[in-house]
Amino acid sequence: MTSMPYKLVIGLEVHAQLSTSTKLFCGCSTEFGAPPNTQVCPVCLGLPGALPVMNQRAIELALRTGLAMNCQIDSVTKWDRKNYFYPDLPKGYQISQFDQPICGEGYLDFPDPEAPGEMLRVRLTRAHLEEDAGKSMHDEAGGKADSRIDLNRTGTPLLEIVSEPDMRSAQAAKAYLTELRLLLTYLGVSDCNMQEGSLRADANVNLHLEHEGRTVATPIVEVKNLNSFRAVERAIAYEAQRQFEAWKKTGQEMGQAPKQTRGWDDAAGVTVPQREKEESSDYRYFPDPDLVPLRITQQQLDTARGELGELPAVARRRLESSEGLKAYDADVIVSQGRGVLGYFDALIAAGASAKRVSSWIQQDVLRTLKEQNLEIEDFPITAERLAQLLVAIDAGDVDNSRGKDVFQYWLDTPSANLEQAKSALGIESVDRGEIESLCRELLEENPQVVAQVQDGNLKGLGSLIGAAKKKNPNADPKLVRQLCQAMIEAMG
Ligand SMILES: [Zn+2]
Repeated sequence: MTSMPYKLVIGLEVHAQLSTSTKLFCGCSTEFGAPPNTQVCPVCLGLPGALPVMNQRAIELALRTGLAMNCQIDSVTKWDRKNYFYPDLPKGYQISQFDQPICGEGYLDFPDPEAPGEMLRVRLTRAHLEEDAGKSMHDEAGGKADSRIDLNRTGTPLLEIVSEPDMRSAQAAKAYLTELRLLLTYLGVSDCNMQEGSLRADANVNLHLEHEGRTVATPIVEVKNLNSFRAVERAIAYEAQRQFEAWKKTGQEMGQAPKQTRGWDDAAGVTVPQREKEESSDYRYFPDPDLVPLRITQQQLDTARGELGELPAVARRRLESSEGLKAYDADVIVSQGRGVLGYFDALIAAGASAKRVSSWIQQDVLRTLKEQNLEIEDFPITAERLAQLLVAIDAGDVDNSRGKDVFQYWLDTPSANLEQAKSALGIESVDRGEIESLCRELLEENPQVVAQVQDGNLKGLGSLIGAAKKKNPNADPKLVRQLCQAMIEAMG
């Protein structure tokens, strides 16, 4: 990394949509993609006299998340009204949490993107529950239509996770968000689908510069609604450079200008000014008179703790220490999500060796999932079946490259067992004597390779393996190489 004349300071506010089937304060469905305004009722529309009823499931999911993020959880949490008026918020306020959020201070550790094997820690300020607003759809018909509003999303439960400004690079911010997303999916509290807006991030960015013997901070800018990892990274990098240029021009420091809100224009690759940021006093928060404060019981916390399951950080350590994987490989497996980790564990439980499982998952299984656009849950080859194959490879009964043929065969014929697949592909084990005579034949036919190898150039052995495979596709390439080399050496 080139050294910059400034230090970047980044905090993220992440909105995660919780996986509840109904909204935070009413029974309307939260399903994505329904026709506009078909999932609404007097409560989420804010009609006079409609009363909110709290969704217990959202509380459970928030508690589970807070525990996994090492947050302090107080015994009482309450609801507040955040007042502002936008067309997508017809009742004129959002039910949120102001001074007593459900989750207090915590932290999240994640792999340092610039130092493999090292961890970074971001402290969390809080995580609170709030309801989502609706969606404005501007100029959908090529600039001719009026603005329209879809209120299906109104009242959908969000958990807003606010970090301290602990990140020092766009890469670190992306890595933090990646880990947070992984954690939320492991916990089953959010599907974190960024295309559908289930995970959105706002980045607070400013710079610390050394100038004339003191540290100067530039005014903080909040970049809103970043809805992809790439957008987070690019927007922060752009904003850092923009603030540096602006500071050189104006010398403006924090406190001399109000906090600004900017949006990210992904196509143009720039941030654009939106509005001056409201101070929290502008929202005139007050406790929601329709909702009583909520008491969190020890039993609720115990239940939530019991539902955590194995967290990504713990799974990585387990794959490294118990299974002997390298940090990089453990991270690749764990980062694929709980489904792939479960598949890995099932292969190990069925007797395959961890290193072979790791390499087959990373190469063959993940490639196939990607090519066929499948989830691991729908993968045609069961873990038990693949384990049989890997055990056979480990035992030397099937060579690795023929194993790949079996794998391909199973993709189309998953009902075949290993013996059936082997016989369909003509895979037989070849005994050592047969391979020895095959090697003798090859050396006679390829005197130039023999001479090469005798000269110390071992590359020629590769061409012998190729020739051996042509004569007998079941010949174990490792054994061919080993025997040919030994015979040539014996020829002196
Ligand atoms: Zn409703």
